[in-house]
Amino acid sequence: MNPSAYIGRFAPSPTGPLHFGSLVCALASFLDARHHQGQWLVRIEDIDPPREILGATTTILKQLESHGLLWDGDLLYQSQRSDAYNAALAQLRSDGLSYNCDCNRQRVSELGGIYDGRCHQRHISSDSATRLRLSEHGTDSIIAFDDLIMGAYRQNLCSQVGDFVIRRRDRLFSYQLAVTVDDLFQNISHIIRGSDLLDSTPRQLYLQRCLNTSAEHRPAVQYGHLPLAINAEGQKLSKQNHAPALVPGEESSNLWLALDWLQQAPPAELRSEDSATILSWAIDNWALARIPSCAEIPAPGTA
Ligand code: GLU
Repeated sequence: MNPSAYIGRFAPSPTGPLHFGSLVCALASFLDARHHQGQWLVRIEDIDPPREILGATTTILKQLESHGLLWDGDLLYQSQRSDAYNAALAQLRSDGLSYNCDCNRQRVSELGGIYDGRCHQRHISSDSATRLRLSEHGTDSIIAFDDLIMGAYRQNLCSQVGDFVIRRRDRLFSYQLAVTVDDLFQNISHIIRGSDLLDSTPRQLYLQRCLNTSAEHRPAVQYGHLPLAINAEGQKLSKQNHAPALVPGEESSNLWLALDWLQQAPPAELRSEDSATILSWAIDNWALARIPSCAEIPAPGTA
């Protein structure tokens, strides 16, 4: 591929410091971009104030820098992108692709989480959630793609997801809307991230199609979903599960362990080198194909 066409990104939510699980996502997306002489952008996904931790953005950026994961260009903050999200909502509305919905959580959960489109004809006031209306042409809502790590993936949005929320009742923009608008805006070509987001990808591909009506023949975004790093109890490393933050001063070791976890076979003697040396080896030797397509891999130190 034309190297300049590669634009990757890491898009942390400031809900806490980076832990081993988020480091492997940052590192894999960074190395894949650099190996292809591409750009690597960082976007702060701070659109959900109730979930944010004060100071987390600063901590995350310092952790990336101390590991030598230096991004290109300016940071993009989703908290400053409301105009773009409102414009996308207005476009979807005027294209007849969205509607207001006042169904509560309990009703949707009684439906098994797959919304039945009840509010589509109800003309609810705007003081409610907004849902994307999936196409009634059955095959349009079957999304299939080849994941760069997990292989063939297919989802029928109508039967497995239903019309989904793009703006929440509390007026916050949904993750699905914001991430899609920004991936289009930043011309992202490759997304390497955790496989907890694999089942969100068809919604994002579908929204890309809805929003990109001018279709400048841009190539489809390529996705690679990484196995999840799990703790000794088999849970995904996350703030909720008290995953320990990366320890300052242990950057070389963290990078080496992350490369080992990603099955890149880093030589043992590399572990005592500085971050720049480790990353330079890793960029040259990066092979996405070595990453296993399993769902989970225990984090280092997990019995
Ligand atoms: N902000 C999301 C998170 O921190 C990641 C979004 C994405 O990579 O699409 O989990």
